[in-house]
Amino acid sequence: MKNISIFNQVIGPVMRGPSSSHTAGGYFIGKIAASLLGEPAREVEVVFDPDGSYARTYREQATDLSFASGLLGIELVDERFFQALDIARERGVKIEFNVRKLERADHPNAMDIELVSAGGKKLKIRAASVGGGSVEIREIESWPVNFTGLYHEMAVEADAGAAESIRQKLSRLAGEPGIQVRGGAALVSARAREPFPEALLTEIKSAPGVRRVWMIQPVCPVVKNEPPLSSAAEMLKLAGERNFSAGELALEYEAEVLGWSKEQVLDEAERRFRIMQRAVHDGLEFKGEKVQLLKPSAGKIFADERLARSPLGGTYLRAGARAMAVMHINGLRGVVCAAPTGGSAGTLPGVLVTLFEDEGVPLEKILRGLMAAGLIGAIVDSRATFAAEVAGCQVEIGAAGAMAAAAAVDIFGGSARQAADAAAIAFQNIIGSVCDLVQGKVEIPCHTRNAMGAANALLCAGLIIGGYENPIDLDETIDAVYEVGKMLPPELRCTARGGLALCPTARKL
Ligand code: SF4
Repeated sequence: MKNISIFNQVIGPVMRGPSSSHTAGGYFIGKIAASLLGEPAREVEVVFDPDGSYARTYREQATDLSFASGLLGIELVDERFFQALDIARERGVKIEFNVRKLERADHPNAMDIELVSAGGKKLKIRAASVGGGSVEIREIESWPVNFTGLYHEMAVEADAGAAESIRQKLSRLAGEPGIQVRGGAALVSARAREPFPEALLTEIKSAPGVRRVWMIQPVCPVVKNEPPLSSAAEMLKLAGERNFSAGELALEYEAEVLGWSKEQVLDEAERRFRIMQRAVHDGLEFKGEKVQLLKPSAGKIFADERLARSPLGGTYLRAGARAMAVMHINGLRGVVCAAPTGGSAGTLPGVLVTLFEDEGVPLEKILRGLMAAGLIGAIVDSRATFAAEVAGCQVEIGAAGAMAAAAAVDIFGGSARQAADAAAIAFQNIIGSVCDLVQGKVEIPCHTRNAMGAANALLCAGLIIGGYENPIDLDETIDAVYEVGKMLPPELRCTARGGLALCPTARKL
């Protein structure tokens, strides 16, 4: 089971645009690489596969800046992000990004990283960004590992004969450490929910037969407990037993997973909602000439609707304009809250901020709706993925629309079943949607698709509350979406090599 936290993987991370996979993912991989190296880096080479997603998008989507920021310890939301490569040069750190064939490339967002520290220590790792800002370290010095930065993680390379004694030492703190043996060497890998005590570290480093020790400090709040559910069927069972709505259950879910009180969860939900609201306001007020390829339009659409100049105004259009406003900020590499990804960061705020600011919904209900959206996203991530590189736009805008539909149902007093059904039909409406971003920029068609996601969410919530009986439940719908995604050719999965990206006009923009 994936141990999914709503704040870590669904309504988050709080990040800089434009892409959670490429920008936030690159940042977390840089941060983990620095942690594994354990000393300041002096030379770093990052290699992307020519057939993967990064090769064409790493500059456009600021993977270079975000990786450098993570490596150098600059926060992703820090303004110094934009100078990260210059700061690296000033500090005498040489960072190169190259494109060449990766051996055994097993993910479209894979990268190989070779680092040399100021003290001459060398390290080679294989990493992958797996969607919504989540990352995996898949190899350390050719040893297969499965590290995520969600825990305190450690790998110990030792003589094969010493492995069992190291495993026993680590098992005092870390569940069931794994052992791999290759020739005369072994790798013992372990993850823990609490920091490894200094005394244990000293004992392991000085134990006979130990060759190298690599450590990862967690990059987000550590998951303290296994999630109570990973499917919509389990969600409905628990909600029925406790007589909870999806939002109430989501609050309990996150409190249990992170070991927080419900008050802490609500405080963090409000912090993230305020970040969404700020992005909406900033995007509506943005007066610059261009976002990336496009002129900003959200502010004008919103203002015209407010002044009754738009013949087709109303809640849907305002939610759509607000969703686009967030995407303007995302495209400008501003601060947004991924929900569930950077490319789909506008849809949920479009719905929530519209209901909060225009419809007079109290904050408490908005926060519960936000958590309901997070719970639906946690189920999607458990069964499928948020990576457009794996399953197309249906798992970005599709997932965001499903989450926002559930939020709207919850806000208007609907049951957990109704929230799940609204999420299901929102997905059903967009199944098959490809990722065909023009020129590798998260802009065309991403901005208007976020607007569509917000309107689709409100529509689906209204249909379910109004009495539409959904015959294909959320679990089956997610599974179908995932299967369709895996059938898509690579050209239509975030590589800018198909669909709208190949239109003659798109190329000329
Ligand atoms: S087309 Fe969809 S999946 Fe692709 S970058 Fe844009 S929003 Fe994300």
